[in-house]
Amino acid sequence: MPPLKRILVTGGAGFLGSHLCERLVDEGHDVICLDNFFTSQKSNIVHLLDRPNFELVRQDVTLPISLEVDEIHNLACPAAPGHYQYNPIETLKTSVLGSINVLDVAQRCHAKVLQASTSEIYGDPEVHPQPETYRGAVNTLGPRACYDEGKRAAETLFMDYHRMNRVNIRIVRIFNTYGPRMHPFDGRVVSNFIRQALSGDPITIFGDGRQTRSFCYRDDLVEGILRMMNGPDDFIGPVNLGNPGEFSMLALAELVLELTGSKSKLVHKPLPPDDPAQRQPDITLARQRLAWEPTVPLRDGLARTIDWFRTIDLNHYRPPTPNWV
Ligand code: NAD
Ligand code: UDP
Repeated sequence: MPPLKRILVTGGAGFLGSHLCERLVDEGHDVICLDNFFTSQKSNIVHLLDRPNFELVRQDVTLPISLEVDEIHNLACPAAPGHYQYNPIETLKTSVLGSINVLDVAQRCHAKVLQASTSEIYGDPEVHPQPETYRGAVNTLGPRACYDEGKRAAETLFMDYHRMNRVNIRIVRIFNTYGPRMHPFDGRVVSNFIRQALSGDPITIFGDGRQTRSFCYRDDLVEGILRMMNGPDDFIGPVNLGNPGEFSMLALAELVLELTGSKSKLVHKPLPPDDPAQRQPDITLARQRLAWEPTVPLRDGLARTIDWFRTIDLNHYRPPTPNWV
């Protein structure tokens, strides 16, 4: 039985954060979820509120944090393009000031701290699939830069606190992850396609639909995060976490139509600026150092996600934030 810890999860009410909190609470740890509900709602964690080892702190991560903990998972940040472009300045502040605040807590408490970084730090990649050694191609001036550059700066801050102040860090680069509890109006491709298919609305394909992504089921991803956090101190990352299966958006749309039995038509919309043409993780490092690889194929994960979408009441979610369509 591993020792029980006091663990802070920033962004703990979000899609991934709420699952991480659930796993940690079930393992018996004292879990503090810090969130300002910018892109989530209380319903994601309401089932945890009466657990004695779970606490909710409503706070913006850009403000100083006065908590004492043993470990921190830093997930606070809007993640969907429509969400992070809604207030790009706040997005950049969340990554940069949020990282400084959690790193200061880690330094003060001698806590271990993990940064939820992203495949977006590779930008629109010229190297395929993307290994951790690839340095990326990001447009610093474009509409995605608030997120991409914020996450890149966060990685830099983590490395500098590690080198200069000996903070015990971990960096994971998460590739597109999906599953139950995704915000139905976050504008991401999986949530859009499922919602559209279930309501019989047209499926919106941006551009020609031949751009690719690799989709990881949320349970696989959370397992990867925990293996990285609990792994040896000589492996701080960055490490790619994602499912190497690569799909075009057209193929994803066909699969969603098949699994939902929907008769929705496909409609093409303009491709948003700087939309990466391809993305696939090279997970050799995660396989070697964490003995981790995804176990849930896209077809199975989508079926579970569709089942969840059938159970929710869309009126309980905030309306979509402005997007590029
Ligand atoms: P999400 O939007 O569901 O969760 C983010 C959470 O952070 C939300 O609960 C939101 O309210 C909270 N938050 C945002 N700004 C905050 C602030 N200033 N202060 C406090 N809380 C704040 O997104 P997610 O998919 O669960 O992503 C979680 C993390 O994983 C993010 O850091 C994201 O960048 C990273 N990530 C996710 C994916 C993915 O495909 N899901 C891919 C790469 C990286
Ligand atoms: N996309 C699409 N239709 C949609 C939403 C997204 O074709 O309704 C495309 C989008 O242009 C991108 C891919 O799907 O090429 C993944 O988009 P998402 O916003 O999910 O994630 P990201 O671009 O950050 O990988």
